[in-house]
Amino acid sequence: MNKRTIAILGATGSIGTQTLDIVRRYPDRFQADCLVAHSSAEKLFDLVREFRPKVAALAAEPREIPEDVRFCEWIFGPDCAVKAIQAAKPMDALCAIVGIAGLDAVWAALDICERVLLANKEALVTGGSLVMEKAAQLGKPMLPVDSEHSAIFQCLQARQENPVRRLHLTASGGALRDWPKEKMRSATVRDVLAHPTWSMGGKITVDCATMVNKGLEIIEAHYLFDMPVDRINVVVHPQSVIHSMIEFEDGAVLAQLGRPDMRGPIGYAMGFPERIPYGAQPLDFAQLGQLTFAAPDGERYPCLKMAQDALRAGGSLPVALNGANEVAVAAFLREQIAFGDIAPIISEVLEKTSRSEITCIGDVYAADAAARVLAKNCVGRLSC
Ligand code: NDP
Ligand code: MG
Repeated sequence: MNKRTIAILGATGSIGTQTLDIVRRYPDRFQADCLVAHSSAEKLFDLVREFRPKVAALAAEPREIPEDVRFCEWIFGPDCAVKAIQAAKPMDALCAIVGIAGLDAVWAALDICERVLLANKEALVTGGSLVMEKAAQLGKPMLPVDSEHSAIFQCLQARQENPVRRLHLTASGGALRDWPKEKMRSATVRDVLAHPTWSMGGKITVDCATMVNKGLEIIEAHYLFDMPVDRINVVVHPQSVIHSMIEFEDGAVLAQLGRPDMRGPIGYAMGFPERIPYGAQPLDFAQLGQLTFAAPDGERYPCLKMAQDALRAGGSLPVALNGANEVAVAAFLREQIAFGDIAPIISEVLEKTSRSEITCIGDVYAADAAARVLAKNCVGRLSC
């Protein structure tokens, strides 16, 4: 079998290391030709020793490159991800850089690679219409890695020509799901990072606790599946066993289930259309006993409505929502602001943003920069 060459952008992160776990299990199917990270140099050196890529890249240049990893081409600097895929020319790019920082790489991967395997939801939240238009023009598949979108994509394989009436995105509710609302404001970084069902990077774990994550996922689903916001429903499902569902016009609902393990959706995208076993324990329904569902509480999760409204308004507003959230979450993780400050910062930035059209990637970055200035002002005012 011919090996598929793959670039792993964000190789040292939660998604990146789980992707490499699958590469490790199938050395005759996949070759990790290109590994990219931000500043985790030691971790990347270890991965380079193990996976022997053609190209490795770090956004922050390390003091020195050890002798035993100099066999591959090294690229440094803020645009290292784009240069690395241009140099390695892999068949697939698994895009798992966190935040809008990954948008350029997704854009470049569409030009260079046969397929884009997308975890970096912020690239679609900010550049959604442009990215999807480019993918369609070039005829390049965008295979979702986010578990909900992978679930929907898997269900859609059984759709035939039938129209889909609604998408149902499931949400765990995050680490503070069962906290009294009045206590949530003062939750510490440690409290928020203790996610009940998924083990993920810091930013997305905070996003789960505010449910900004589900808001970003509504926007992601809107672009990936061309579905209007009012036909995307969110349901809290604490067990994270149903990963999402599609509903047909006759009321029939198809769901995709599995243990909460990101190697499921990652492997599905890597092997598509083939399924790749990765050693997951099968679901034991009798042991599970019950699966439960609830409507999201709008008071507990005000960011969900902000995201829906931003998507309805369109233009620069989803970009502003994302930029404000990235600034607020980074400030919370640095313990500069309280958890309860995140939602008001996003709300203030959205209120102060006047909608503009997004017609090119430059417009995306301009809207992002403007939102960041507004959000940093809020952080400065609120800093503890
Ligand atoms: P992590 O924080 O764990 O990892 C982020 C990765 O991106 C790291 O390898 C980091 O390098 C690298 N990185 C960050 N900024 C840059 C940059 N400017 N240039 C190059 N590399 C960069 O995040 P996750 O793996 O949790 O999430 C990645 C993406 O996947 C996010 O968009 C997230 O929303 C999405 N996602 C994640 C899920 C999960 O289970 N983790 C589930 C669904 C979606 P370094 O280590 O050097 O900082
Ligand atoms: Mg998800």
